[in-house]
Order: sequence, then structure tokens, then C-alpha cells
Amino acid sequence: MKFDIKAIRKDFPILEREVYGKRYIYFDNAATAFKPLQVLKAVEKIYTQFNGNPHRGAHYMSNQTTVEFEAVRDKVQQFINAPSREEIIFTKGTTESINLVAYSFSEAFIHEGDEVIVSEMEHHANIVPWQIVCERKKATIKVIPFDDSGRLMVEKLPELISEKTKIIAVTLVSNVLGAINPVEEVIAIAHEKNIPVLIDGAQAVQHIAIDVQKMDCDFFVFSGHKLYGPTGVGCLYGKRQWLDAMPPFLGGGEMIEKVSFSGTTFNVIPYKFEAGTPNFTEVIGLGAAIDYLNSIGFDKIFHYEQELADYARMKLDTIDGIRFFGQTSHQSNVISFIVNSIHPYDMGMFLDKMSFAVRTGHHCAEPVMDHFKIPGTVRVSLAFYNTRDEIDRFVDALKKVVAMLS
Ligand code: PLP
Repeated sequence: MKFDIKAIRKDFPILEREVYGKRYIYFDNAATAFKPLQVLKAVEKIYTQFNGNPHRGAHYMSNQTTVEFEAVRDKVQQFINAPSREEIIFTKGTTESINLVAYSFSEAFIHEGDEVIVSEMEHHANIVPWQIVCERKKATIKVIPFDDSGRLMVEKLPELISEKTKIIAVTLVSNVLGAINPVEEVIAIAHEKNIPVLIDGAQAVQHIAIDVQKMDCDFFVFSGHKLYGPTGVGCLYGKRQWLDAMPPFLGGGEMIEKVSFSGTTFNVIPYKFEAGTPNFTEVIGLGAAIDYLNSIGFDKIFHYEQELADYARMKLDTIDGIRFFGQTSHQSNVISFIVNSIHPYDMGMFLDKMSFAVRTGHHCAEPVMDHFKIPGTVRVSLAFYNTRDEIDRFVDALKKVVAMLS
């Protein structure tokens, strides 16, 4: 099937929206992506036709929701090529998925004096949960650095690993640098010492086809809202051997086998980690997003976005004084930059008033800002519904903003 950008854009009515009297151009897809009509309709269908609490009732609506909810588990399993559906856990998002692993894994496996390794380019969501755990367990964090091009220095990993290393957590794609990291190398080095690896896929799943079996990661996490699905839903894939050995994260309904005041036994995976009423409407919306992406084809999405990002970098490079952050040989659809000494926030504000949405600031990755000794960057993050025409208009606007602020 041809990649039909006109047809695709029609699926996203919000792209027609005018703000400040002009059509709004949205380049903040790494923060959250727009949702196609197919997702909106799936969500509406639940509220207008089913709305039963899954797994809990003998009645028609509950059964219908259960069927649709569990079908999404199969879809996610296929989407990331997980070995089994039981290894897919629904959460609120990447942040909750990482917190779940940090808490439950550490309860079982991290003790005083142990070590956790993360990278210098992690989002706060893949730093702070580990810091909290390490504080509680009196363990320490070690950091894989990146070089000034934004390349993860995997060659430093062997010297960071010790007998005490219990887990390594790294991102597949940096939300600031746009670097696509060689996580297979990280995993191979870690597995030589039987150390599990968590991969943060929050900026990867929407851009790159994922195969967790090929990657051989132990945990893989992502958010639905960055994958053109609803907010409030995310996934955790974990190898059964780890999930079975980890205690529950949250307690409540559905995660139990038997409850009495003399003691409680827990359900099997995935339910052991899904306490309470799940965000079933959002999960079903996520299923619609995955169907939608599959109908376009991930190869096509990847190639279109890569080409678009190359074009954007080439056009942006015509701006005098621009400095890019993240210039490795494998870059994604995220482009971070500053121009001369103009504060990113000022650029973002002016661009907004000209109807362009970009993200400015530290992007929840303050260690990356510390590395470059900058307060923040402007970040353009593209989706497959963006176009070259939008980029042309953006670069023209940015040139005006730079002239005004210089
Ligand atoms: N990890 C990365 C790399 C991210 O870019 C983000 C969000 O931007 C997160 C984690 C956190 O995702 P969420 O806020 O959806 O939980």
C-alpha cells in the first residue's frame, strides 16, 4: 500500500485546528501524539455500548469488555513480538511501568551494597524510581556516559559492571538527543554476567518496529499516548522468569488468588500486577491505535519519518548559529537545538504565537542539560502526519524569531 499522507491526515481531524487565527503546526509529538479517528471511535464505542468492568461480571457488558480488553493483550504481544500474552502487563504509562519494575524487582533482588546502572541520557522516569529504590535499599547508581555527539558510550559498560550489579536500565531512543541506542550491545554485555536489562521504549515504539525476543531485553516499557493511543495506559513486557519471581507492586482487586485475614495469596501473571479496575477503555483505544499503525505499516512509517527528520535537519542547518544536540549515526525523529545564546523558552513562546508547537526546556532529562551546560533546548519531534511543507513554514518562522531575538 502507498503511504498516502493526504488520507492519513484526514484521520487526524485535530490537524485542521486553527490557533491564533492560523492552522496550528504540531511538532511536539514526543510529548504526546495526536489520536486518529479510529482510536476516538473505539473509545466512544466503549462508553456508548459496553462500559462493563472487565473480569468481574457474569453480565453481557462485562464479558464484552473483557473480550476486547484481553484481545489488546494479544495485539500488544504481537506488536512487540513477546513470547506470550501473560508477559504483557497494562499500566498507566512508561513511568508507572518503570516504577513497578524498580519497586518489585528491588524487593526481590536488590540489597544493601548492590548497584543499578542507568545511562546519562535517561528521562527522569528512568532515573528517579531507581534513586528511590537505591535510597531505600542502600544501593548505588552508576551511569553509562554519552559523548558530545550524543552517542551512548557502551564501551564504558564493562568497567561499570561489578559483582554487585543487579539491573541495567537504558532508553532505546533519547527523548532529547534523538539518538537510537545500540541496546542489543548493552544487553549482550549484561547477559554475559546474567544481569537483566530494562529498555525504555517510550520514544521508540512509535517510530521503530520492536521485537523484544530479537532484542532479548528482560523488560520493555512504553506509553500509549505517545503511540497515537489514549492517555492513562501503558505497557510493561517482562520475561516470565522475572515477573514470576517479583512480588506485586499494588494490592487490591483482581491481583489476588485468595484473600482472608489469615493471609492472602496472589494471582498469576499478568493479573498479579494489575490491581484494581484497569483503564480498560484506554487499553481498548490503544488496541485501535495498534491496528491503525499496522494498517499503514511500520516500515512505511519509519522510512517516512526518517526522511522527514533528515529534511528537517537539513533545513534547520541553514539557520546561522544553530547548534544541534544529538548527531550520532543513528538519529530518530527527535531534533534538539539552540540558536546562538537565545533562550529556548523565548523561542518557544514566539513560535507558539505564530501557531507552531515545539517543546522547550530540559525535557525531563536534566543530566543531559548538565552534560552540555545549557538550561534547555528547543525540541522538534515529528510524526508521520507531519509534512515537508510544515517544516518549510516552521523554518521560515524560526528565522524570523531568531532575527527578532538576536
Ligand atoms: N521515557 C522517555 C524516554 C520519555 O520520553 C518519557 C516521556 O516523555 C517517559 C519515559 C515518560 O513517559 P510517560 O510520561 O508517558 O510515563
